[in-house]
Amino acid sequence: MAEILTLKNIECRYNDHLAVAGLSMHVNTGNIVCLLGPSGCGKTTVLRAIAGFHPLDTGEILLNGRRVSYPGFTLPPEKRRLGMVFQDNALFPHLNVADNVGFGLRGMNGEQKASVVKNVLDMVGLAGLGNRFPHELSGGQQQRVALARALAPQPDLILLDEPFSNLDIELRERLSSEVRDILKRQGTTAVLVTHDQHEAFALGDVVGVMHEGRLLQWDTPYNLYHEPNCRFVADFIGQGVFLNGTLLAPDTVETEIGVYQGNRAYQWGKGTRVEILLRPDDIVPDPASPLKGEVTQKAFKGAEILYTLRLESGLKVLSLFPSHADHCIGERVGIRVQADHLVAFPRVEGPKQKREAVIN
Ligand code: ADP
Repeated sequence: MAEILTLKNIECRYNDHLAVAGLSMHVNTGNIVCLLGPSGCGKTTVLRAIAGFHPLDTGEILLNGRRVSYPGFTLPPEKRRLGMVFQDNALFPHLNVADNVGFGLRGMNGEQKASVVKNVLDMVGLAGLGNRFPHELSGGQQQRVALARALAPQPDLILLDEPFSNLDIELRERLSSEVRDILKRQGTTAVLVTHDQHEAFALGDVVGVMHEGRLLQWDTPYNLYHEPNCRFVADFIGQGVFLNGTLLAPDTVETEIGVYQGNRAYQWGKGTRVEILLRPDDIVPDPASPLKGEVTQKAFKGAEILYTLRLESGLKVLSLFPSHADHCIGERVGIRVQADHLVAFPRVEGPKQKREAVIN
């Protein structure tokens, strides 16, 4: 597959402040990639650098093999053949939907323009709404118009900056998967930035997790969840708790609740103090198990219930049970750790160790 976008070791500053540090990534044609990270980690700056709104202090950006940014040179945004969709979709309030969508279409006569606008509105599910004005549309519809406007000129690459963050959760989830379908159907390449992992997972073929200007892991959603490469990613992605343990063998850890063997070997020596990550799906119900947890909280999720369970030692763990296994607060239930993906990190001693996960 052809590489459409390449970032090589880029660095971006705001005066003295290093916002993006030594970041490299590449995007193949037709792929959707997401940059995910907490607010302030540098995601938007990377997107602005790709768009040509922010210069590079180090490194280079290539679009279709052409150097479009390097220190001292930034090809202007309008020459990059990119589509952009931002959080505040910035539709022109005085133009109707069709004129908003057709705004960037140059070198076409009225008829050609109308045909492109009609096709793209059909594609985003807004057929027949061309005469409406932005204020006559819902938030989700407005975001679809913004997407249609970005897609209409058939850009090589489309950039999306937190496009759904102003929408309510339900709509956000629905629109994320709809937008993925639309982009995939068109074969459009896209880079999305978001702080919302559900959005990143719903849209991205590959997701890059950023922290303090750096890209920590560039991977599939599955691997980010099950094989995080550092503690930050383990903590930031998904839910879970960290449990102290000691390495007995490269693939075996002894903890206060048992000895667990995973499917990977760690290089740290025997006796290394580690933390293992326990996801809610690593802890499964087992009435016959001697390991018991007391239900302290429960959250109904439809097909499953997420329980917070207090173990004898006081440690709290999270566990997903099928929803028909309905237990009351205070009840003691049998559990078993099923940790094939045993994820361990060397323990960093300190007061800030997180013993409990926050339930979102
Ligand atoms: P994110 O999109 O992940 O929230 P940004 O790329 O917007 O992060 O910002 C990265 C860092 O750069 C932050 O520390 C932010 O405060 C800083 N920053 C962003 N824009 C500016 C600016 N115009 N002037 C100075 N600092 C900025």
